[in-house]
Amino acid sequence: MRLSEKLSERLNLACGKPVAECTDREVYNGLLALVQEEAAERQQAAGKKKVYYISAEFLIGKLLSNNLINLGWYDEVRRILAENGKDLCQIEEIEPEPSLGNGGLGRLAACFLDSMASLGLPGDGIGLNYHLGLFKQEFADELQKEVPNPWMEEQSWLIRRENSYPVSFGGMTVRSRLYDIAVTGYRGRTNMLHLFDLESVDESLVTEGIQFDKEEIKKNLTLFLYPDDSDEAGRKLRIYQQYFMVSNGAQLILEECQKKGSDLHDLADYAVIQINDTHPSMVIPELIRLLTERGIDFDEAVEIVKKTCAYTNHTILAEALEKWPISYLKEVVPQLVPIIEVLDERVRRHYADEDVAIIDRNDVVHMAHMDIHYGFSVNGVAYLHTEILKNSELKKFYELYPEKFNNKTNGITFRRWLLHCNHPLADLITEKIGGEYKKDAKLLELLTACRDEDLLKALLDIKQQNKRALKEYLKATQNVDIDENSIYDIQIKRLHEYKRQQMNALYVIHKYLEIKAGKKPSTPITVIFGAKAAPAYVIAKDIIHLILCLEKLVNEDPEVSPYLKVVMVENYNVSKAEKLIPACDISEQISLASKEASGTGNMKFMLNGAVTLGTMDGANVEIAELVGEENIYIFGASSEEVIEHYAKGDYVSKSYYESDADIKAAVDFIVGPEMLAIGHKENLERLYKELVNKDWFMTLLDFRSYTEAREQAYKDYEDRMGWAKKMLVNISKAGYFSSDRTIGEYNRDIWKLN
Ligand SMILES: *Cc1c(COP(=O)(O)O)cnc(C)c1O
Repeated sequence: MRLSEKLSERLNLACGKPVAECTDREVYNGLLALVQEEAAERQQAAGKKKVYYISAEFLIGKLLSNNLINLGWYDEVRRILAENGKDLCQIEEIEPEPSLGNGGLGRLAACFLDSMASLGLPGDGIGLNYHLGLFKQEFADELQKEVPNPWMEEQSWLIRRENSYPVSFGGMTVRSRLYDIAVTGYRGRTNMLHLFDLESVDESLVTEGIQFDKEEIKKNLTLFLYPDDSDEAGRKLRIYQQYFMVSNGAQLILEECQKKGSDLHDLADYAVIQINDTHPSMVIPELIRLLTERGIDFDEAVEIVKKTCAYTNHTILAEALEKWPISYLKEVVPQLVPIIEVLDERVRRHYADEDVAIIDRNDVVHMAHMDIHYGFSVNGVAYLHTEILKNSELKKFYELYPEKFNNKTNGITFRRWLLHCNHPLADLITEKIGGEYKKDAKLLELLTACRDEDLLKALLDIKQQNKRALKEYLKATQNVDIDENSIYDIQIKRLHEYKRQQMNALYVIHKYLEIKAGKKPSTPITVIFGAKAAPAYVIAKDIIHLILCLEKLVNEDPEVSPYLKVVMVENYNVSKAEKLIPACDISEQISLASKEASGTGNMKFMLNGAVTLGTMDGANVEIAELVGEENIYIFGASSEEVIEHYAKGDYVSKSYYESDADIKAAVDFIVGPEMLAIGHKENLERLYKELVNKDWFMTLLDFRSYTEAREQAYKDYEDRMGWAKKMLVNISKAGYFSSDRTIGEYNRDIWKLN
């Protein structure tokens, strides 16, 4: 039987009646069941060794279409549905996006799972099944409001397993429940994302917004990702979550390895554990504890763990390098404390320097330090980031263990970020160079050989088509009108001062003032933002307030809105990214140099034919090197200059404010009468003062060169064929940023699976 007949038959069976008679919801449920059945069939036994990728977050996005693509079924299914009067795009809309991640780190974990399965590597994810996920963002009164984000449905991708493990905390023991989500690789194998949960968790514990009783651990443990940690109960809850994740993970790993024949002495031949940032760091003492409980002596257990665990560092921002007071650990996980103390003593015996200790003189445990001493590999996530780790942030550790340090520049899965989110572009590329690039992304470079006018025009046509689709989507979802013939200039990423959405907002003010003064841009500009701020991050929320006030001011001003529009997309997530990125002309990657570890949004934009406006930070450095200076807009202070400013403490924002009239006008506007008529004085004044008196991330330092680079980009955009050439170079050089390349390197240098 042909694939289409077989699929058609199986789908009717899964739906329980002919597809034509089903509602969209029934078709969705039928497809879900069918894909799950097929994924299970494609499961194969792992070889001897498996990688376990432990992460607090997996920002996986919707799964239906991606799974259909990876199974090689997408086109057939779309056609079968169309024959029965159904539209696959509409059926996709029914699926809720799993809310198991926050930002880049979680999205990276999801791309890595896809690439491991696609490359045929046995590699499972381990994390938590958060019922209400990360909060959902709503806008009201020009402010961010947080509400719960329930995403699990009766029928979903979650498969309930029989696995259940005891996890003991100081004073109580709970039993977990495992749920799995199948990860189907592109023409590859099926791996698993293991998500641990607790059956006593009670969603009705949530009162207002995302408030809940933080001390009811049995009821709140897996409610939210990153519960508010601005008080002690919140911080302890994070430790409960982390320990629950790693204890379950470690028990599962030992059970699987023993089933495959490991006697635990040889654990490192069966398992490699990739610790994604410091949230899972307690897996080190927990594994030591479990191994000794199973009869292995302490010294050997330490040696086994040292050969099994590898650590990925994701940031140099001090606030994100987790440190826990030992008093908290004594209360939540008392069984780990003596182990961590011994690990610390052993470090102190060898190295006198207090800076590399695990437990510092204030009795605070540095999780990253434990990872570096007791893991066999430490990797950064882009060339520049790894160099900064080696030469400044983790210099003392690099001097102790130079052989442990390595770089793995991040990547993205092209299945989701091209094949799924931009069908017209994927089809055009296939037409030009064949479909092999889907498996071997470097082949995109073949596009440089077909630089004919037809191809350039086709690229522009596809961009226009995607821009029109985004315009319609924004009209339907947020009731805003944008001009499809304007330049789409987009900054979408978590809100953080170092990412400098405030600098983009200052540019908007600058442009508004110019237009008011009669200087109109030749092509209208649409500035799009999307960003969630952590609920307790006051200045970040003030920046959102500023952007929302600007949106109102600019869009409602008839003198300005034909030339400039501002849109802040509500609840930025993977599904929104998939709609925004293919429509983008200019990709804003404007973090303060040295602060963005890698970025992966920058790679998604490049792949979809946007041109980057960015600083020499994170993977922008590698993008710039690949595309060449004519095909990227680089501005701002270098990482060396920035690091020197911090070392000398000689950056004074006020001097930039006082000496540059444009800067002063834009900053003053924040607290001017137009803004105060729309927004809240308290928020706007706080942000104004922050910029003038502190500006820790040096917005005003780079503002002038940012403005110049941005104007240059807008000017170059006027020559549409010249612009299309830049688009083509960006697309054709994006192959390096496939997560298949990244995972190949992890395997070659760290995991060494077959
Ligand atoms: C890719 C992605 C990110 C990371 O974006 P950066 O610009 O690298 O910070 C965050 N959130 C979502 C939804 C993403 O898809």
